[in-house]
Amino acid sequence: MKMKSIESIFKGAPFHMVGDGFKVSNYFPSAIDFNKRMSPFFLLDYHPPFKYPATTNERRGVGPHPHRGFETVTIAYEGAVAHHDSAGNSGIIYPGDVQWMTAGGGILHNEYHEKAFARAGGVMHMMQIWVNLPKKYKLTPPKYQALTKQAIPEVTLPGKNGVIRVISGSYENCTGPASSFSPVHMLDIRLKDGGEAALHSPKSYNTALLVLQGQVAVNENIAVKERDCVLFKNNGESVLLKASKDSTILFLSGEPIEEPLVHYGPFVMNSVDEINQAVDDFNAGRFGTLKEEL
Ligand code: MN
Repeated sequence: MKMKSIESIFKGAPFHMVGDGFKVSNYFPSAIDFNKRMSPFFLLDYHPPFKYPATTNERRGVGPHPHRGFETVTIAYEGAVAHHDSAGNSGIIYPGDVQWMTAGGGILHNEYHEKAFARAGGVMHMMQIWVNLPKKYKLTPPKYQALTKQAIPEVTLPGKNGVIRVISGSYENCTGPASSFSPVHMLDIRLKDGGEAALHSPKSYNTALLVLQGQVAVNENIAVKERDCVLFKNNGESVLLKASKDSTILFLSGEPIEEPLVHYGPFVMNSVDEINQAVDDFNAGRFGTLKEEL
């Protein structure tokens, strides 16, 4: 199999706060034209390890806000994120867990530091990815997949040189539990110093990886450092990794959705009219209501 060449290696945008609880760096769509190169993935906000002091009464996070037209995928590495939404779902995302929320036709939700975590303070380390929905599923009913650490299968690499946790799609014969509306491979990869892995996905899939921690040689010994993101060309099927430190890597590869895209704030639709409709629906209260509190 031919290797996917590296198209670019880039860093995230300067940090910004999401609400008052999540200090994130955006990798895409900040980079120019990245949206086109990473479809069906639309956004990646990475929150590296950051220690929050203990709070008394207040909870850090983001208050009620809407989403329409895509899915939010939240991966917790450290800390604990609490969520509740207008579809009546709620939960806490602990380290190793993934929350795959389909906003579809429209949802309101809160994203907060979990209560006990907020009171004690501690290190938060997480990621949020937005996965676009194909036009025919834009208004699908909201849905929520709480993928616990135990529900995510793990492939141990030869020589116990690491593990690959399959969140969505597949690695070798192992299939992840997430159901998605278009084909998506999402792998949480942990390599020990010297650990190697070969990853595969079709040539046509848009593909990137982010080194969260450590350092990894990609393909022909291109050294990729902590917090660097690698975008691959659509010219091969495989990616080779060799860690030179203990490393954590997120691998994303998906079939592009080749449809018009219009983005405004928390809405990702196919036309300006659909964006205007989303704003009208939100202002008219048609995204439902949120019951307080967790
Ligand atoms: Mn949100």
